[in-house]
Amino acid sequence: MENLRELYQEVILDHNKNPRNFRAMDDADGFAHGNNPLCGDTIDVYLKLKDGVVEDVSFAGHGCAICTSSASMMTTALKGRTEAEAEALFNSFHHALTEDADYPDDVPLGKLEVLKGVKDYPVRVKCATLAWHTFDAALKKHQGEVTTE
Ligand code: ZN
Repeated sequence: MENLRELYQEVILDHNKNPRNFRAMDDADGFAHGNNPLCGDTIDVYLKLKDGVVEDVSFAGHGCAICTSSASMMTTALKGRTEAEAEALFNSFHHALTEDADYPDDVPLGKLEVLKGVKDYPVRVKCATLAWHTFDAALKKHQGEVTTE
């Protein structure tokens, strides 16, 4: 188990150091701003939809290592998914980290599994889910602000 934990740690550190899709988008179809005052994470999530499919998703802003790596992994996990699939992945991810939501239809998390260990640190759960809540808001075209508090 120790090796697995180290591997997970490495994946998280790698995404924090080299975040994927870390850029603002000029022609986004959806945009939302996310704020986690507890930690000081503030990120913007941009997305582009084509025929109900997430064609592109990116983020910008400042977050802690967990927030940044989670946002980075989220962007790679969501590209190419339909809106419904993206929503299902968000629900499953949220469920995996909080376990308090009544959500029986979990879909495989794939690489996002590495973030599941965060659930042992309740304060960090908000860091890990901020990008997802922000994406969700952008998807529902609620252009505006999301806060974890
Ligand atoms: Zn944070």
